[in-house]
Amino acid sequence: MIEFGVTKLKIKHIIVCGHYNCGGVQSALSGNEKGIIGDWLKPIEKIRDTHSAELEKLEQNTQKWARLCELNVIEQVRTLSQLGLLQRVEK
Ligand SMILES: [Zn+2]
Repeated sequence: MIEFGVTKLKIKHIIVCGHYNCGGVQSALSGNEKGIIGDWLKPIEKIRDTHSAELEKLEQNTQKWARLCELNVIEQVRTLSQLGLLQRVEK
């Protein structure tokens, strides 16, 4: 989808959206989701595990939740920026 947008539609800007109070991120934080939704949340659980030291320093669960919402967006941007396709796009 990104390749089509960038190469064929000549998309110049990609916006990564996230939001606080995200139910998906909350489920990934608790890690209780199984089945299709659990599979869908696996990337966020991976981010949770990667940043577990930072998240564990936060006392309140609501703080961990908010920070994981932020980390999810940060990691999405990082992943996109590492795509060779996007690195080759003319500025
Ligand atoms: Zn959400």
